[in-house]
Amino acid sequence: MNSKIIPMQNNLVLIYLFLIGLTFGSFFNVVGLRVPLKKSIVAPGSACPTCGHQLRAYELIPVLSYMIQKGKCRGCQSRISPIYPTMELITGILFATAPLVVGWSSELVLALTLISMFIIIIVSDIHYMIIPDKILIWFAGIFLLERIIWPLNPWWDNLIGACAGFTLLLIIALVSKGGMGFGDVKLYALLGFVLGFKLVLISFFLSTLYGAVLGGLAMLLRIVKRRQPIPFGPFIAAGTLSAYYWGSEMIELYIRFLNQGF
Ligand SMILES: [Zn+2]
Repeated sequence: MNSKIIPMQNNLVLIYLFLIGLTFGSFFNVVGLRVPLKKSIVAPGSACPTCGHQLRAYELIPVLSYMIQKGKCRGCQSRISPIYPTMELITGILFATAPLVVGWSSELVLALTLISMFIIIIVSDIHYMIIPDKILIWFAGIFLLERIIWPLNPWWDNLIGACAGFTLLLIIALVSKGGMGFGDVKLYALLGFVLGFKLVLISFFLSTLYGAVLGGLAMLLRIVKRRQPIPFGPFIAAGTLSAYYWGSEMIELYIRFLNQGF
């Protein structure tokens, strides 16, 4: 996708999107943490997991509260996981940068939906190594609606993409015997539906590339042990967003490269 030139007055909109992203990120943290435990996402309000201290409004300001409290609970001084503010910040940045890449188009709606789903999935995957079915079902409904309103060209590319994503990951899940979970298989069926055949293949290629490079690096630096399972969700998110943003250009470049010969 070509990046569109953004007029000045839209800078305010980008800041607004950043703030919305921070707030949504905070909510996605709650969803990603509670849904796998089958807890309600609205009640009770957030509390410190160590001492049960109920968080007040001023302790729930995304990123800022964490910085002011220096990452500690006001009740018991125990450390708050830096994952919370990090996910809030990432959501804010991804929300604000999406229109710079895809422009102010229907693709922006799909990009923001993808980002939202991925943040929730990453939170669940980091904490529990699970991609909850419930999350996939909610987002399948949203994506179905979005692709009815803004279909791929040709429209059946959705179905081919979903079949390709499902089959590819199913084979890998069966061959790797647990290295790739069935949550990933279902997620890729959905991603194939959203992206279509070509882009879902690129998404898979980039996800495994990022996973191999960063996973290998983490092993070299001894951040993770050999054979320790690594949540694959963050890599799928990075690979899929890259494919969604720049996949068509990558295909074009590749074809031009092939045509020019070696
Ligand atoms: Zn506490």
